[in-house]
Amino acid sequence: MTVPHFPAPGSTDIALSVRSHERVGERRVDEAWLAATWPEPTTRIVPVAVTRFPVTADGAAVRWHTAEELPAEGLRIFLGVSDGVAYFALVLAQPTDEGRWTTLREVVHTVSKPDAGLMVHAVALAEWHASHRFCPRCGGALRSTAAGHVLVCEECARQQFPRSDPAVIMMVTDESGDRALLGRQAAWPAGRFSTLAGFVDPGESLEEAVVREVAEEVGVQVTDVTYFGNQPWPFPQSLMVGFFARATTTEINVDQDEIEDARWFTREQMRAQAEDGTLVLPGGISISRSLVEAWYGGPLPGSW
Ligand SMILES: [Zn+2]
Repeated sequence: MTVPHFPAPGSTDIALSVRSHERVGERRVDEAWLAATWPEPTTRIVPVAVTRFPVTADGAAVRWHTAEELPAEGLRIFLGVSDGVAYFALVLAQPTDEGRWTTLREVVHTVSKPDAGLMVHAVALAEWHASHRFCPRCGGALRSTAAGHVLVCEECARQQFPRSDPAVIMMVTDESGDRALLGRQAAWPAGRFSTLAGFVDPGESLEEAVVREVAEEVGVQVTDVTYFGNQPWPFPQSLMVGFFARATTTEINVDQDEIEDARWFTREQMRAQAEDGTLVLPGGISISRSLVEAWYGGPLPGSW
């Protein structure tokens, strides 16, 4: 039995998991500091209309604002500090100007890494506020505290915190490590393939979820589940945890529910098909791409 050589955890950069700002949690409850910092001309604020925010025309940067350029009302979220500059989001019902407003999903491949890291934080909280209007225990009204990071029930005082839903995403290789397993969903454009992925069940470990999801989706048994890295994926609130796993069986039986087709690829097949366009690999910002290229051993052409 040959054990494939998996890359060491942390050896590959994973986009969106960059550390873009210091979150300085103690400032979230420092009302005097927050009130004094908000109107400072150096403070940078991004207005967010649920999921949409202003960007430059080419989508390469967020259009940051100062407090005096923005409405006085709206929920203020303190994101953190970077290079001595304080960053906030202001949650609004509507865009405030005629310039380009977009979603993170639309610009995730073009926006600068520091802005992407800040917007992952901002949009995750804006979406959380939009979808959590009432207390889940008593139905009471909720009040935002901790600069947007905690919701407190006005009736029963129960606190709610933002959630991240763990999902596993895995690069499955055969016994030799020479072939990798990719699958595709029926709704995807022709040729698009990606690593398998799925949500973690309640009470289930990450490693168990990898084994179960691969068996359910493609009928392949895996072992040697090895951690790779992780990435926030705020669409709307996932944390993608990446693994390598070694298959002990190779016969594929797709479930035809989540997965329509799955195939084994050698490195040569993957490169040739990615070059001629018959295989379309995941985008550069996704941990799926990082997993594929970590196994392949370098960059591959094309993406969606
Ligand atoms: Zn309540």
